[in-house]
Amino acid sequence: MVVNMDMPIIRISLFLFILVFFALLENFYPRRRPVCNTKKRWRTNFSISIISQVLLQLMLPLSAVLTAVLASDNNFGLFNNIEWPILIEGVLVFLLLDFSIYIQHVLSHKVPIIWQIHKVHHSDRELDTSTAVRFHPLEIYISMLYKISVILILGPSAVLVIIFEIVLSSSAIFNHANLKLPTKIDGLLRKVIVTPDMHRLHHSVRECESNKNYGFNFSFWDRSFGTYLKLSDEYHKKMTLGLESHQSTNTNRLIWSLLLPFVKK
Ligand SMILES: [Zn+2]
Ligand SMILES: [Zn+2]
Repeated sequence: MVVNMDMPIIRISLFLFILVFFALLENFYPRRRPVCNTKKRWRTNFSISIISQVLLQLMLPLSAVLTAVLASDNNFGLFNNIEWPILIEGVLVFLLLDFSIYIQHVLSHKVPIIWQIHKVHHSDRELDTSTAVRFHPLEIYISMLYKISVILILGPSAVLVIIFEIVLSSSAIFNHANLKLPTKIDGLLRKVIVTPDMHRLHHSVRECESNKNYGFNFSFWDRSFGTYLKLSDEYHKKMTLGLESHQSTNTNRLIWSLLLPFVKK
């Protein structure tokens, strides 16, 4: 029953569909010209993702959805102990889970040992849909432990957790895409959600820019906590992405990327 609740085939198919959709879109409407070999980048980014997912399955026999099922069976967590109308619970769970992801991302930049791992994501010298999956296995593992803790505290229904996870991975693909949105559409969307231009500034080599725009789904966390940044349209075409310390490094190498958290630089 739990395996069915997780719906791995449906979720993977949906993920691939959204990935292909935005990969095609960014190919037709690119925001920037790639500065490095796209083929090699994609091979490395997806290899990191596959390794991360396989190791996660081997090291942690618990998923976010399974945690929600277990919490519900044992009346554990806030929403399992208070009767809420389903719509209100849905909205609150969605907001609280998204806020927890925002906090986690801020901590990933502020806590040195976590930044050492998160910088694998930031070492990509270009930004496109493949960057959305470039997360070191340790980061994926820590993120899952964090998510499990949040779910144990909140006790949301498993269905809401599935919906949130699908929306989160879809919006990560969207906001990492090298996609040129019409200025008006970008302006309207960023009032509520994180757009590609918004997240691209977070991948700037300049710390004053990479310490902004931490949101993944909703843009209002950044606006509310003073971490929102918007720069000119022109700036996006010429800005430098990646890590300042690794601008002359070939960051497309798989082994280099996997070892980066253990290297002092
Ligand atoms: Zn970051
Ligand atoms: Zn990112």
